[in-house]
Amino acid sequence: MIAFKHHRQQIAMLLAVIIAMTLLFSSIFVLTHLNHDCTGMNCVVCSELRTCIRTVHLLSQTLGSGILFIFAYNCFKNQARKYNAGILSSRLSLVGLKVRLNR
Ligand SMILES: [Zn+2]
Repeated sequence: MIAFKHHRQQIAMLLAVIIAMTLLFSSIFVLTHLNHDCTGMNCVVCSELRTCIRTVHLLSQTLGSGILFIFAYNCFKNQARKYNAGILSSRLSLVGLKVRLNR
C-alpha cells in the first residue's frame, strides 16, 4: 500500500512538472515569436503561436477550475468538521445547554 501511494505521488509530481514545463515553454515561445517575419497565409509560426496560446488558455482554465474546486471542497469539509465537533451547533449556547445562572 505504501509503495502504491509512493508510486501515485511520483506520477502526480511528473504530471505537475510536465504541465508546468508546457506552460513555461509555450509562454516563452509566444513571447519570443510574437514579432516574426510573417509570410501571410499558412504561416507556420502563426499556426504554432495559435496552438501555444490555446494550450496556455486551456491549461490555465483547467488549473484555475481545479484549484477553485479543491478550495471549495476543503472549506466545506472544514465547516462540516466544525459542525460535527459541535462548534457551530446551537446547543453550545447557555440557553441551548440549559445553564441556570441565577443560583
Ligand atoms: Zn506568421
